[in-house]
Amino acid sequence: MFGAHIKRQILFADANQSVGAKIKISGGGKCNLTNMHINPQNYLGDEAFIKNSLDSFSSGDTLDFFAKYGIFPTKKDNGQYFCDNSKEVLSALILANSSHKFLLGSRVNDIRFDKGSFIVCFEDKNVTAKKLIVASGGISYPKLNASNIGYKIAEKFAHEIKTPMPALVGLTLQKEQFWMRELSGISLHARIKYENFVYEGDMLFSHFGISGPAVLNTSLRWERGKIEIDFLPYLDLTVDSFIWNEKRQPTSVIDVPKRFIKAFLNSFGIVDKPMRSYSNFEKEKIILLKKYAMPIAGTFGFNRAEITKGGVKTYDINPKTFESRVQKGLYFIGEVLDVSGELGGYNLQWAFSSGANAAKHFRF
Ligand SMILES: Cc1cc2nc3c(=O)[nH]c(=O)nc-3n(C[C@H](O)[C@H](O)[C@H](O)COP(=O)(O)OP(=O)(O)OC[C@H]3O[C@@H](n4cnc5c(N)ncnc54)[C@H](O)[C@@H]3O)c2cc1C
Repeated sequence: MFGAHIKRQILFADANQSVGAKIKISGGGKCNLTNMHINPQNYLGDEAFIKNSLDSFSSGDTLDFFAKYGIFPTKKDNGQYFCDNSKEVLSALILANSSHKFLLGSRVNDIRFDKGSFIVCFEDKNVTAKKLIVASGGISYPKLNASNIGYKIAEKFAHEIKTPMPALVGLTLQKEQFWMRELSGISLHARIKYENFVYEGDMLFSHFGISGPAVLNTSLRWERGKIEIDFLPYLDLTVDSFIWNEKRQPTSVIDVPKRFIKAFLNSFGIVDKPMRSYSNFEKEKIILLKKYAMPIAGTFGFNRAEITKGGVKTYDINPKTFESRVQKGLYFIGEVLDVSGELGGYNLQWAFSSGANAAKHFRF
């Protein structure tokens, strides 16, 4: 989406035939609008920059805004606020902007700057504007017309870009973990550690690798190397645990899907037998259920990533107004910036906070 200020009018331009394509599919159609526990640590990016914006337009402000349109999201796990239907969010946003003009199904190919004005170049026409807000998002989900135009515009005006990477996305496996592929469709509750970050939640095995909320959050932080998974976050399992006196087998004693335990044991060449019959060597392997370190091959890629991490670096953006410090009249908001949030309503909140702050200071 582009907001252009022309002759005291605001024009919203978007390549899609309707606005807010991502909002429509967000939260599985129930739009996880925001979160009650928002703070800069939930984001990748410059902490002070992010804090400034979130303090000036908080999750409470988002809820107040939508309440005016009769939308009262329900608070769910981890402080996430979900709506009944994403379409109601879109209707509210469209109504709030009904006095402005919309140019839909129009792809921006280039921006030029001439005699103090921006020239927005579409396929079939050019539009001249005094001010330009770039809210073109990231490059994930290309089927929704995502493009790299925001980064191209930023570079044109000498802004620096942090390399865009897929995030909130599944992770692919190295050969040693291909045994997980046969578990496609199984999910379990896990705790995943990458460097100093720990995410707990559901994890899902798929033919491509691992996915689910705990993995998606880990993908936000993951750059290279290993992650460590605790497949049994609620069980204290050491060589001294009572569990080793059990006559029953791991598949009966350990409360995770049987197929998972079997495949896990099998990957070490261990059979499912009475707990008390395991050797110390075998116990040490089974205890790895608590700290399974595995290298990651990569991600499921931009086609399946909920967001793009990286983007326009924020040190050249005014944290109050979101105006470029390099080019007057040029603004960047939302996911196109180098600010990326965890799963749970953090990214829409960032889009709302940055957008509202830019709008507050936008003068005709
Ligand atoms: C499947 C999915 C589910 C999600 N669920 C949630 C959720 O529940 N909660 C949450 O907080 N976040 C969620 N997100 C992330 C969230 O949707 C985005 O972070 C947020 O929409 C970013 O807002 P934005 O305005 O910066 O960019 P976008 O919403 O991506 O909007 C950018 C717009 O720019 C337009 N555009 C791009 N290039 C051009 C061009 N060259 N010319 C013209 N127009 C162009 C695009 O068509 C698009 O409409 C989800 C994302 C996905 C993909």
